[in-house]
Amino acid sequence: MIFRLSLFPFLFFSAHVNGQTEITKWQDGKTGAVSITYDDGSINQFRYALPLMKRLKLPATFYIITGTIDGSKYHGKFIGRPVQEIIAETASAPTSADNYFERASAAKYLGYIGPNKYYDSSANFYEDGKEAIAYHVMDELYRKVRTGSLKKGTELSMEVADEKGLTWDSIKKYASQGYEFASHTITHAHMAVLDTTNTNMFYELEKSKEDIKDHLGEKYTFTAEIPFGVEHPRAMKYSLPAYAALRNLMTDPYMQEINRGYKTQPGMSDKEYVQWQRGGTTKTPLPLMKSWVDTTLAHDNIWLVLVFHGVDSMGYEPLSHQLLDTYFQYIKMNENNLWVATFSDVVKYMRERMHANVTTDKTNDHILVHLKHSLDPIYNIPLTLKTYVPDGWKHVEVKQGNYKKQLSVQKDTKGNYVLYRANANQGTIQLVPQHFQGKLL
Ligand SMILES: [Zn+2]
Repeated sequence: MIFRLSLFPFLFFSAHVNGQTEITKWQDGKTGAVSITYDDGSINQFRYALPLMKRLKLPATFYIITGTIDGSKYHGKFIGRPVQEIIAETASAPTSADNYFERASAAKYLGYIGPNKYYDSSANFYEDGKEAIAYHVMDELYRKVRTGSLKKGTELSMEVADEKGLTWDSIKKYASQGYEFASHTITHAHMAVLDTTNTNMFYELEKSKEDIKDHLGEKYTFTAEIPFGVEHPRAMKYSLPAYAALRNLMTDPYMQEINRGYKTQPGMSDKEYVQWQRGGTTKTPLPLMKSWVDTTLAHDNIWLVLVFHGVDSMGYEPLSHQLLDTYFQYIKMNENNLWVATFSDVVKYMRERMHANVTTDKTNDHILVHLKHSLDPIYNIPLTLKTYVPDGWKHVEVKQGNYKKQLSVQKDTKGNYVLYRANANQGTIQLVPQHFQGKLL
């Protein structure tokens, strides 16, 4: 009697899960995800960091400044009336909300050496909500221009100067090896302070995208990083609609975002996903960088987005390639449990999963799985499915279209299951147990 009582719930439970299919949170049922991203396209990223990742077979996403790459159609410029008119006007009309964006947009194109630091500083004050100081700094710049205190010439920002040597041919070669490239605007602009009436804002957003599309293809226009990690509402208002996924800010309701400057720790969130951005700088000790990986592994919902800039004394906060090598080996060592993928692939996986519908039909000799979503066809990353199979199935063949794979049955507390990748909207998936001479294998 005791035996029967204990058997009954087991049978009931087993029948209940049999055929049940879930989409695993991360590709291949892993515990967490990591995306390695680089900003500014400094040439040392490709000379020293990319070969390390190539050796370890790790993917990465590079956010590049398109305006200075040889062969780009669109370069940095001011769109609007002649700058001499603007300069002259500043003598009598102080900077205000009415003219600030025009003056800020023109600042780098006045024909002088020296405005960059005023432009950066003014934009930083504006982004911090200190508009009055931002206007004051802009007045100071134009006063220096009017009084002849600045030398004539053109000036490159550090980010743009460090990209020198990067060509579309080399970018195409790296892209063909699986590396992702994406826009970091045309000139590494402060998007929060560009004007929309003269379209300088849209030029930086749309024309950078166009050069990327013309040289690499539509696929590479999925994501972008608006310079300086800005999240200012004015920059986001125009940037968010231009790209499917900004590294700066994502608004997916099922995801908590902890950006680089935030102090919040992951692991406290009840959201389905947590995007946790961490940026290694010259002051970041390697053990701390490793602990980000450990924290990701200790939870099931963390997507660690690593942000790197300079490499080997070139670029912002440069890290040595020796340190990167050790760090990347640590990530590689944990790849059994970590899904290392480009920024876009992770976004696509999460969105597909959250919008997908999976149903099953079960008979005695096979299970049919239907996987669908109604997102744009650009969402084409295979999803990993976990299907519970009847007791006794040991080896299973999965078929979808022309794709076939033999799977071994695994076991967890809920029952026996198979884990496999499948494509949504690509036809029914069939799971068939394997037989030999009439017996289940
Ligand atoms: Zn940057």
